[in-house]
Amino acid sequence: MATPTRRGLLLILSSPSGAGKSTLARRLREWDPAIRFSVSATTRPPRPGEVDGREYFFRSAGAFRAMVAAGEMLEHAEVFGHLYGTPRAPVASAMAAGQDTLFDIDWQGGQQIRNSDLGKDVVSVFVLPPSIAELERRLQGRAQDSAAVIAGRMARARDEISHWAEYDYVLVNRDIAEATAELVAILTAERLKRDRRPWLMGHVRSLNAEFEERRP
Ligand code: 5GP
Repeated sequence: MATPTRRGLLLILSSPSGAGKSTLARRLREWDPAIRFSVSATTRPPRPGEVDGREYFFRSAGAFRAMVAAGEMLEHAEVFGHLYGTPRAPVASAMAAGQDTLFDIDWQGGQQIRNSDLGKDVVSVFVLPPSIAELERRLQGRAQDSAAVIAGRMARARDEISHWAEYDYVLVNRDIAEATAELVAILTAERLKRDRRPWLMGHVRSLNAEFEERRP
């Protein structure tokens, strides 16, 4: 049998900041290193340890707007007073190569990609915290953020959470191992969908040919 091929799918992960989305994304890529992470462009300054081209492409507002004007962004939005956007070209080439892409983007980006012509290739997952108290505790545990930044993220969490029902799947991240297992189950099932396995047609044809050969 020829090597099975399929289009890559677009796995969108959204959540309020502090719900554990980045850890989940990292765990998923440890489970399958072939998953491509969509590196967004942003106008926010890098945090300590962040590397240009790895976590984000750090760009000036002018350079960012030029990318948008040139049609190079699949989606873009303002989050926490900074611009964020998904470069279009790497997504198209990953899909064509049958490689799945993981997006860590907010609800605005999720909505734009779902409503684009790539909508049918999207699998979207929203991650909820077990409680608001736990969300705040996790945000406070991040040494790098000031009290003002944490307050801003808490204020925005309610707005982000209000979009939970727009997603195909919703996880409650009580335990990272459990949530990772659930995310792996989602991706595994989505990869097995009939529409994503166009080679099945040929396989069934060859099964039928075998039946024909057996006819007395
Ligand atoms: P952070 O600055 O903490 O890395 O990200 C802030 C928020 O921006 C997160 O909710 C993240 O998911 C979202 N975000 C990151 N990249 C993009 C993007 O390309 N597009 C959109 N719409 N949101 C993004």
